Amino acid sequence: MASYYNEHTVLWQDGRIVKATEAKTDLYGQSLHYGYAVFEGIRSYRTASGETKIFKPVEHYDRLARSAAALNMPYRYTSEELIAATYEVLKLNNLQDAYIRPIVYGPANMSFNPNTESFTVIQAWEMAPFLGDRLLRVMTSSFQRPNPKGFKIEAKASGHYVNSILASQEAKGKGFDEALLTDMNGYIAEGPGANIFFERNGRLFTPALGNILPGITRATVLQLCEELDIPVEEGSFTPTDLSRADSAFFCGTAAEVIGWSAYDDYNFPKPWAETLGQKIQQAYNDLVIEKAGEKSSEKAEVKIAQAATA
Ligand code: PMP
Repeated sequence: MASYYNEHTVLWQDGRIVKATEAKTDLYGQSLHYGYAVFEGIRSYRTASGETKIFKPVEHYDRLARSAAALNMPYRYTSEELIAATYEVLKLNNLQDAYIRPIVYGPANMSFNPNTESFTVIQAWEMAPFLGDRLLRVMTSSFQRPNPKGFKIEAKASGHYVNSILASQEAKGKGFDEALLTDMNGYIAEGPGANIFFERNGRLFTPALGNILPGITRATVLQLCEELDIPVEEGSFTPTDLSRADSAFFCGTAAEVIGWSAYDDYNFPKPWAETLGQKIQQAYNDLVIEKAGEKSSEKAEVKIAQAATA
């Protein structure tokens, strides 16, 4: 098993800094028994200037608040408070390139009744930026994503991840790197922990919102497409559409932007270095470490000029 903490690690637990080895939770908890919790996966980076910066912290903590609301969980912090707490956790653990895991969970409660309180913990551990040059072989999962009529699929809820674990374990058991799940209608949806884009004839395509987690990286990729003048379409696409694509990639906070070499028995024809995904990957890597590319700073100037006249 990976090591997430040692005897020096601290975490934030509802306003208190606690040693990871001493922090406690309740074994009679509703969250442990029923998967009734919400969480986030966030990254921080050592930026080009040497400073530690959390990438899109407001977006992540706002999504955590929406996830809690979607599950009727009491939620008592502002995003600003939790961002400050996160920087404290990073600093106290001496972390720069880190993966940050806030989780909101319920008290001891074996019933299905709502709670009057919930608890929040922020953990972080070192995670180097993912370079993403090793391409993935991905298989169509036999598992579908949860039906949005049965779950609040837009929430990042712990229980949903049983589906992710089943799909990922199946793919790895069959010798693939990762799974791609379809939605209840058989359209391609997402990976166990990442959203998907594919390229065909100079355009990118990605499943529309509705049956997927609205990824913050997905939103960032859409924003980069606009900045880089890459045409992109959101819609409903079949596994057959994907198996005619020129290239494909996953995107997510942990995975960042990572290309595929194959989908089931189909090998993508375009060398990764020539794909739109590779351009997006480069732009994403620059963005998270706040390295200003020439093109993005030019665009920024245009935007500032436009804003000034609006
Ligand atoms: N889909 C699923 C199921 C995920 O778990 C994740 C990771 N949070 C994503 C997509 C990507 O989301 P994000 O870009 O916000 O990390």
